[in-house]
Amino acid sequence: MSSGRKQIDTVVIVGGGTAGWMTAAAISRLLGGVGLAITLVESAAIGTVGVGEATLPQIRTFNRMLGIDEREMMARTAATIKLGIEFRDWGKPGDRYVHPFGTYGEPVEGVDFIQAWALANALGKASAIGDYSLPIVAAWADRFAPPGEGGQQQPYDYAFQFDAGLYAAWLAELAQGSGVVRREGRIVEVIRDAESGNITSVLLENGAVIEGDLFIDCSGFRSLLIGDTLETPFEDWSHWLPCNRAFAVPCANGGEHGPYTRATAREAGWQWRIPLQHRVGNGLVYCDAFWEDEAARDALVTSLEGEAGGEPRQLRFTTGRRRELWRGNCVAIGLSGGFLEPLESTSIDLIQSGILNLVELFPGAGIAEADQREYNRLMDLEFERIRDFLVLHYVANQRDGEFWTAMREMPLPESLSEKIDDFRRRALLPDYADGLFQPVSWISVFLGQNIVPEGWDPRAEGIGEAALVETLDGLRQSYARDAAAMPVHREFLRMSGAQYAGASS
Ligand code: FAD
Repeated sequence: MSSGRKQIDTVVIVGGGTAGWMTAAAISRLLGGVGLAITLVESAAIGTVGVGEATLPQIRTFNRMLGIDEREMMARTAATIKLGIEFRDWGKPGDRYVHPFGTYGEPVEGVDFIQAWALANALGKASAIGDYSLPIVAAWADRFAPPGEGGQQQPYDYAFQFDAGLYAAWLAELAQGSGVVRREGRIVEVIRDAESGNITSVLLENGAVIEGDLFIDCSGFRSLLIGDTLETPFEDWSHWLPCNRAFAVPCANGGEHGPYTRATAREAGWQWRIPLQHRVGNGLVYCDAFWEDEAARDALVTSLEGEAGGEPRQLRFTTGRRRELWRGNCVAIGLSGGFLEPLESTSIDLIQSGILNLVELFPGAGIAEADQREYNRLMDLEFERIRDFLVLHYVANQRDGEFWTAMREMPLPESLSEKIDDFRRRALLPDYADGLFQPVSWISVFLGQNIVPEGWDPRAEGIGEAALVETLDGLRQSYARDAAAMPVHREFLRMSGAQYAGASS
């Protein structure tokens, strides 16, 4: 029986950055059996954004789904292990905390660890929350072992810091091996059906016309299809996240490898440090209303730990997202659909969610409005949750300076004010059924930014002070022992076959 909808036989992916090649590899491998013809168009003359090196643990699931061997991937992309993100100077100068890919402690006599810790902390009997998280203890000791391999007491996960260009190049090989056709050339016109408004083809500078049933916009900040062509409105979130520029530059490693990404608060923004095997990626994200370009650039260059690998490159952006990421026969994946600053390394993860949601709702038999609505709803949720979580880092600051004062005083999204109040009042945490940033993430940033619970679950009082102190001490010591038994990060890379063989730079 026909639904009257047009069957999807050909998919055209516009753009060959991380988003384009992740999409091409995933669709060709996961939907390979349904006979789709997939073409990817990219333009070497335009190039890619050329940043985006820190990931979240979910990328391991993506790699597994695509049959990618993790150690081989690490060796080919100069990847290091990432156990979390270290935030320096974010509450006030001198503060430091890690948002780990793991958990804190374990329940104490059936009471959630954070509730027991909140009471012990109020009694002056708890040590810093990070002492109860194995990935944090290991990260600061520069050590790593795969979860479970050393009989560790606490579960944890990990992600990678990698050369995104090498990752995309590898996915390009895999995708082309699975039948994706790569076309090189600049798109100069996008052609639409006069009646439906759907995109029917793209015209390349050399005159070639590429037709398709479904178009995936991976054209980066240019937003060629979803933005320029379909004029999908952009929802601007810069009143909450006003940073709008970045300088990025790699440098030689100054000696510290560290299995984590670092984000250090600066005068009107923050600076990232991403250690790869052969170099360190650095960047300064800032707001131009509070920091002149030249001064921001100098602040980055003079803080590098080793020789710069070129001139800093400037990037400009506006935080926000398109109101719909799936419109008509076009789905936007990657920067074309929206951007949230990379403070929590969420962009590649958003690409991955976009792809996996599309695979699940893939309109093989034709585009149904209900699927489109569901896709947009799921992606809205992802974007909004990440937005609130990022805003939390800024609002809960005790730093001096015009920028930080403005951030502290801004009106918050209502959804975020409630979360802050709940945590301060009774250590209550947002608990989502799915998606990014589960309770442990919120605990890290609340406490890291000096939002401390003033109340707790009354059952914590029933544990008794002596038993509480003994349990917390025991946990702290077991995590310290487990971390000390792990190999040094660099040694792990060497031993596990994950070492990068490429030229150093
Ligand atoms: P791009 O890399 O820009 O690719 C766009 C593609 O479209 C290119 O191939 C281009 O040639 C093609 N194209 C465009 N116009 C045309 C045309 N007319 N004809 C033909 N082809 C065309 N993400 C993380 O997950 N972690 C991070 O640590 C991180 N750090 C970041 C730091 C900064 C400062 C910025 C700005 C972003 C960061 N990101 C990070 C985001 C990450 O870089 C991107 O999500 C990722 O690289 C995907 O980009 P993209 O593929 O959407 O776009």
